[in-house]
Amino acid sequence: VRRLAIALVHHPVLDRDGAIVTSAVTNLDVHDIARSARTYGASDYFVVHPIEAQRGLVERIVTHWREGSSAARIPDRKEALSVLSTVPSLEAAIERLGGRGAVELWATSARSRPDSLGYADASARLAEDGPAVLLVLGTSWGLAPEVVAACDRVLAPVGCEARGDGFNHLSVRAACAIMLDRLTSRR
Ligand code: SAM
Repeated sequence: VRRLAIALVHHPVLDRDGAIVTSAVTNLDVHDIARSARTYGASDYFVVHPIEAQRGLVERIVTHWREGSSAARIPDRKEALSVLSTVPSLEAAIERLGGRGAVELWATSARSRPDSLGYADASARLAEDGPAVLLVLGTSWGLAPEVVAACDRVLAPVGCEARGDGFNHLSVRAACAIMLDRLTSRR
């Protein structure tokens, strides 16, 4: 079984006009993705943000729930947040996992492409031995093309293809939970 980690990227991401921007941290993404990560056995949840003040904000939220009376009051939240750390860049997250040679990067997108990695294949690969897999999630209007290009594979979008009207615009935290469930279905 391979190590699985998650990166939530706030830069570089796209805005609705396709420009490269830096998005702000969303409190719900901090908590909900940490819970999903811990539940499905991800070793790490990296909140990737280049701005120190935004990383500081996330660290303050995490410290609030990891220490003191709040930690005692809601211990499962403390446990979920134990997998979270902040990093300034995707490269820093990769370093934390042992460097580029030790990690396979799987980008995610709501858009389907001909060379997407399907979930049957992806979950089988994860169940084998091999390098760690870093699941790369976007914010705002999604990952910048340069991030996707730097990844090894792009996972197929999740949604109900059979329904056929093409709408699949999930929140990143909902998409993450569904992807983790599909990816770990063989574990
Ligand atoms: N149009 C953007 C795209 O194609 O990535 C949607 C951005 S969405 C608001 C933010 C992030 O949520 C995406 O970068 C991706 O990680 C995830 N996401 C949202 N819907 C998804 C879906 N149906 N399948 C896979 N990932 C999805």
